[in-house]
Amino acid sequence: MSDYGSPQPARDLCGTMLVHRKLLNESMTYRARRTTIENRALQYEQGRRDSTRTDVATLPVVVHVVHNPNAPEQNICDEQIHSQITVINQDFRAANPDVGKVPEVWKALVADPRIEFQLATRDPNGEPTNGIVRVETDKRSFTWDDAVKASAAGGSDPWPSDQYLNMWVCQLGGGLLGYAQFPGGPPQTDGVVILHSAFGTMGTAAPPFDGGRTATHEIGHWLDLYHIWGDDDGACTSDDKVADTPNQAGDNTGVPTFPRITCDNGPNGDMFMNYMDYTDDVAMFMFTKGQAKRMNACLEGARASFLVAQGVRAPAAAVPAGAHPAHNGEVERLLHDSERLTTEILNDIRSALGLVTGRSAG
Ligand SMILES: [Zn+2]
Repeated sequence: MSDYGSPQPARDLCGTMLVHRKLLNESMTYRARRTTIENRALQYEQGRRDSTRTDVATLPVVVHVVHNPNAPEQNICDEQIHSQITVINQDFRAANPDVGKVPEVWKALVADPRIEFQLATRDPNGEPTNGIVRVETDKRSFTWDDAVKASAAGGSDPWPSDQYLNMWVCQLGGGLLGYAQFPGGPPQTDGVVILHSAFGTMGTAAPPFDGGRTATHEIGHWLDLYHIWGDDDGACTSDDKVADTPNQAGDNTGVPTFPRITCDNGPNGDMFMNYMDYTDDVAMFMFTKGQAKRMNACLEGARASFLVAQGVRAPAAAVPAGAHPAHNGEVERLLHDSERLTTEILNDIRSALGLVTGRSAG
């Protein structure tokens, strides 16, 4: 433990690293895919590869509201869900009303990742939908074990996770606000989970997590961002693999005062107003350009299927009479997917060979 006075929190507000470490321990496929994904991110980070995307990417979202009938507050209203979509659409465009609070020294680093979100208008069968699935459960509470993502375990099965960002909203225990699965994990558990009272800006959303920023943070993970402090328990030895975010010791909570110096990162100190810290919703309001690059590497790599996804891109008006909407762009998508999978499998094999011939797995 360092002397920076920032030990691991007594409770994890976010369970993403718990899931990540479990998958790293259990799955060789996950380890191999993470290596591929990290290599690509590094190429973007070092400028050896650049985003080819010039337009705004709109990602289709399905929200699974998993609620217990004995706790009716868990069945949050449509308006609360819409309030959450509004926040992420601001935060991932640097169009959030509080972006002006970024300290002067970091204003030039503020990035617009050019990512937007829309509740799906087509379900996996091509039928019209409002993008909200409501499922009753007999569970009083969930945790980061992914039970909420399977109907057989009292949750709600995902929609195809290469076409929809699955967001599960439920009661979470143990002080968890949410968790995400990094790209490269099993498709049947891919997505983000958010505590209903940390979701959106109205309804059951409760201070200090009623600004919709838990979803911003978790989607950041889903797009391959690490915690800004590098999850090294205050040791200053590990960072978030993004160069333009200062190395910082541990997480910050509450509403810190600028500057807060750790890991010899003065004079500006920790970038605690970054979405990937643990501060209150009112105290976080930026992604950096380096983080946007890393998200782009993910969106053009492991999550490239979203750039041609169906849920948003096939509005009813554009479907010719008699055509099956699910077939719109299907061929293009399949070709794209097969190319991507071939590359991934080849990379997996290379990584696996590297592992068995003695290359250390980090
Ligand atoms: Zn997190």
